[in-house]
Amino acid sequence: MKANEGKGVLIVLSGPSGVGKGTVCKELLVRNPQVKLSVSATTRAPRPGEVEGVSYFFKTREEFERMIAAGEFLEYMDVFGMNYYGTPRAYVEQQLAAGNDIVLEIDVKGAMNVKRLCPEAVLVFIAPPSMETLKKRLVGRGTETAEAVERRTQEAFAEMKLLPEYDYAVVNDVLEDAVCSVETIIKAERLRVCRRADLTNF
Ligand code: 5GP
Repeated sequence: MKANEGKGVLIVLSGPSGVGKGTVCKELLVRNPQVKLSVSATTRAPRPGEVEGVSYFFKTREEFERMIAAGEFLEYMDVFGMNYYGTPRAYVEQQLAAGNDIVLEIDVKGAMNVKRLCPEAVLVFIAPPSMETLKKRLVGRGTETAEAVERRTQEAFAEMKLLPEYDYAVVNDVLEDAVCSVETIIKAERLRVCRRADLTNF
């Protein structure tokens, strides 16, 4: 039996912060009940409106480091050198084994780690229509200080350079088009011969 027979697709939706990958992800989940979201753990403080276990699992540094030591993360990262973010391993593995697709909405460095650790993962880069649009979106979000916006803009420029490492690129200009593109990618991945145990086991 090949590694991914009968398993769902592990999709990594990634790209610079402010590119709207959260919005693309949310819409994808609403429209596709077989696609499940991996909820990350983080040590950053909740923003207004964020819900424990839905937006993130909010942890103290001590709790997070205990989880690292126990091998509970598929990948984790010290994003912006200030806060840990990580993908809890158990839920991802359960969903794939059950034949569901699972989406990880993570930063570019995390995506590179997933690619190394899970070569079967499908990496989708969500790109802005232009760097100018991205900067406007970062400012417009209004939840960050001016320095944080500047730092994220600089990081975004650097992250765009990792595009060639990805399997697919989707420009998030019109949300509907971006979501349709991601759905098309998932459909195509599900048709790969390595997932078609139904046809290859005659
Ligand atoms: P925010 O604080 O705005 O929610 O997220 C900051 C960055 O961390 C975003 O680029 C987000 O995609 C990334 N991130 C969220 N969850 C994870 C995760 O589990 N692993 C990694 N590596 N990055 C994550």
